[in-house]
Amino acid sequence: MAFVNEISPEEREGLSNLYSKISSERSRRILHVNSEVRKSLRDFFIGEGFYELSPVILGPVTDPLNHPVSDASINYYGHKYGLTQSMIFHKQIALLSYEKLFIFSPNVRLEPLDRQATGRHLAEFSQLDVEVRDFSKDDAISLAERMYCFVIEQVRKSCAEDLEFFGRALSVPHIPFRRYDYSLAKERYGEEFEASLSENHKDPFFIENVALLDREFYDREMEERPGILSDMDMVYPEGFGEALSGGEREYQLERIIDRIKKKGQTFEQFKYYLEVARMGLPRSAGFGIGIERLVRYVLGLRNIEDATLFPKVIGKFSL
Ligand code: ASP
Ligand code: MG
Repeated sequence: MAFVNEISPEEREGLSNLYSKISSERSRRILHVNSEVRKSLRDFFIGEGFYELSPVILGPVTDPLNHPVSDASINYYGHKYGLTQSMIFHKQIALLSYEKLFIFSPNVRLEPLDRQATGRHLAEFSQLDVEVRDFSKDDAISLAERMYCFVIEQVRKSCAEDLEFFGRALSVPHIPFRRYDYSLAKERYGEEFEASLSENHKDPFFIENVALLDREFYDREMEERPGILSDMDMVYPEGFGEALSGGEREYQLERIIDRIKKKGQTFEQFKYYLEVARMGLPRSAGFGIGIERLVRYVLGLRNIEDATLFPKVIGKFSL
């Protein structure tokens, strides 16, 4: 068959490795845990009175992110639409409809090649996005803590054999989790504070109040600490690194415009979002947590590629 020759040796080897991987007991167990993690998350949020929103896969505006990624846009009937990098703007706008929302959202982020070695980046991943009207940062942290403990409790019950197979013992941490102030942590532990704190913890913790220019424009600046945002990351222990990011959001047009300027970004890129902000955005807070990272942590997997059946590995052939 002539077309078979069009596959390069690397691609054929990639497919063959994938074939063996998908057929293995190890993969089946990871898939089970992935499925149970999703189920427990959904159960948690439905139990808390949230509605589930359908994901948006492409649109004329998406999360600019705080680091450079390659362009992932398509020609949408003559207009440039981007693949979703996160649903931050859509979830803010969706709160006009209902006050508590979650979405299992496929995100595409064409990360730089050097991120392949981190073990926790994929070019496509699933983000559970959560947003609540009139929430504060503290409300969002408390929700994330309860969510995390619920998932660990559920998975310990429903995936006991899988955890044993991977030699993983998980405990449910005490609430509240430890919190570190971003600027103080940086001062005390240096530029790599997140990684070193992650190495030295046994339970997840938060880093809060990120410096304005170290984050996207949409997290809300504190009135009482100008230049500091009312936001946070949750970080896994044992060196697994960032779990989730979130915070309170800017919702007033003038403040959004000021923040876009401070980041040196163009208004053109956000014109549709700005137009909606002119009509009025709800005040809110929320967060986004990566599902593959959560599965990776739950099972103690070295590489995030193993947390899903069809990983889009940065820079590599993927099915
Ligand atoms: N926008 C964040 C991210 O995708 C998540 C959030 O703030 O809700 O990293
Ligand atoms: Mg983040």
